Amino acid sequence: MLTLLLVFLAISQAQATPLFEVKSPTEIFPFQGPETSPMHAIPLSLVVESGSAWDDTTVIQKHLEKTSKILAKCDVRIYPVELTRVRVTPAAEALMRVNNPYAGAPELGFLNDSALPTQRPLGVLFGHRPYYQDAGAFPQTSVRGLSRLGIDHGPLEDIFFVTEKYERDPVSRSYTATFSTFAHELVHVIGDITGHNMIVGNLMTSSDAPRAHSGDLNEEQCQAIRRYRPNI
Ligand SMILES: [Zn+2]
Repeated sequence: MLTLLLVFLAISQAQATPLFEVKSPTEIFPFQGPETSPMHAIPLSLVVESGSAWDDTTVIQKHLEKTSKILAKCDVRIYPVELTRVRVTPAAEALMRVNNPYAGAPELGFLNDSALPTQRPLGVLFGHRPYYQDAGAFPQTSVRGLSRLGIDHGPLEDIFFVTEKYERDPVSRSYTATFSTFAHELVHVIGDITGHNMIVGNLMTSSDAPRAHSGDLNEEQCQAIRRYRPNI
């Protein structure tokens, strides 16, 4: 009970003082992507932790280019991309450490912050912390499932996050160079894909067969992504 009270107090306090300090105002990132048209365009908001491995224009450019190549097969384009640089305050870090199943997903404590952009989908790119998971996503169906347990997870809908541990994509026998963790988490959200498949040669696979993880999406996945309508 005391833990629950402390979590509640932490969340109430979060609403009073932003957990993220905006270091530079939201700007449109100069990324056009493939200019083939017509394409289904999905806008993207990115929040980058200043000082992390993500805090570098060329790094963001590299991930957007890789993701664009993956989505081009589906005639989908990520555009426009807006970017906000933030500092993660100690209060936010403290909330990342909260692990109380009765309070719902820990991200409810800090990703529902007034300093973060309201446009979705939203990707949060931050530094690695040993006590916190390195990538995750909240597609609509998962959020509704979590909310059925009694705590509204709606504020997390269409948010994904990747820490700097996966700024460099995995290198092993089951990964090809076209795979992207950034794109994988984004596609969970824009395709409302809640789980993984066992396809060898797919972006959303969990197979550990050689070269299983690739940048490929199948037609069913493409159709799901094209159905996505952003909440702006
Ligand atoms: Zn996944």
